[in-house]
Amino acid sequence: MIHAMSEVDDIIGRLTDGETLDEGEFAALVAHGLEPEHAESRERLRRAAVEARKSVYGNDVYVRGLVEISSYCRNNCLYCGIRAGNATADRYRLSPDQILECAEEGYSLGFRTVVLQGGEDPFFTDAVLEGVIKAIKSSHPDVAVTLSLGERGRESFARLREAGADRYLLRHETADADHYARLHPKEMSFENRMKCLADLRELGYQVGCGFMVGSPGQTSATLAKDLAFIRDFRPEMCGIGPFVPHHATPFASEPRGTVEMTCFLLSVIRLVHPRVLLPATTALGTIDPKGREKGILSGANVVMPNLSPVAVRRKYELYDNKICTGEESAQCRFCLRRRVESIGYRLVVDRGDYRAG
Ligand code: SAH
Repeated sequence: MIHAMSEVDDIIGRLTDGETLDEGEFAALVAHGLEPEHAESRERLRRAAVEARKSVYGNDVYVRGLVEISSYCRNNCLYCGIRAGNATADRYRLSPDQILECAEEGYSLGFRTVVLQGGEDPFFTDAVLEGVIKAIKSSHPDVAVTLSLGERGRESFARLREAGADRYLLRHETADADHYARLHPKEMSFENRMKCLADLRELGYQVGCGFMVGSPGQTSATLAKDLAFIRDFRPEMCGIGPFVPHHATPFASEPRGTVEMTCFLLSVIRLVHPRVLLPATTALGTIDPKGREKGILSGANVVMPNLSPVAVRRKYELYDNKICTGEESAQCRFCLRRRVESIGYRLVVDRGDYRAG
């Protein structure tokens, strides 16, 4: 027991010294890292993560304007409130013109990155998306366009990249194939998720992966695989936030992820891959009123205010009690600026590109 305790402190020490850890060490770190006797090491880890972030990105926290373009989805991910099987979901879809208006609003608020996220909605064919991406790019060549629209074929990713899309967020959800199968319907596969990520990278996108913290079936062994995947894949972005149950999904009564584990993992990821763009997510802000501030203080350096029309926001309900569904975009922006400045950071609205070494 005593041996196991000092081993964790030793692993944290080596991580903060910049050493590369193996999967077994990641597993021990995740299994024991939150125990009370490691509080001091944990604080050292958090500080080292903040320093690592500062040495690459200074005190800047980047903003991405998020437009939730559709809550229609053909998929049936067990955790997600907008899964096809949720017959009680109130669905909406923005028209291309509405999406452009949101992007325009983001531009006038100063945002130079727009993220188009949505369920896998067959309405958004390559041709429709191409039109939207080209329209944004032709009026504002200085805006980075990020897509987060789930799995598509390589040809589709290629066309959208050709049309001007710069970045793509596709959380891998878990790097363990059995765990992936527990979270997804049998029509979906871990292999295809990984193939999408590989295709996106080959096509020249800046790629984001990520996972939920505390998803049903997650263990220290599956988390160790996630960390090893991030270490090896070196994504430009990595989205992690707590799993939060949605009442109309098979996981309705599963426990949610914790702020402590999410923040701990944010620090670990920052040290495993110091240059990664790491958001303090809305899900983290949902389970704790100061969640996003805590995320930034653990090594995150991105926030994603909502630019969706207020009338539809409540309908993009991935999980229960999601925050920021009532405010106008400008209010979200000022709220986030206040939050970021209250902890001594600077909200920066430019493109906020990944800084390659
Ligand atoms: N359809 C797109 C976008 C999905 S929504 C795609 O498949 O990539 C973006 C992310 O929200 C998902 O990748 C998932 O990790 C997260 N999410 C979904 N349901 C959630 C829940 N109940 N709690 C927390 N995060 C959730």
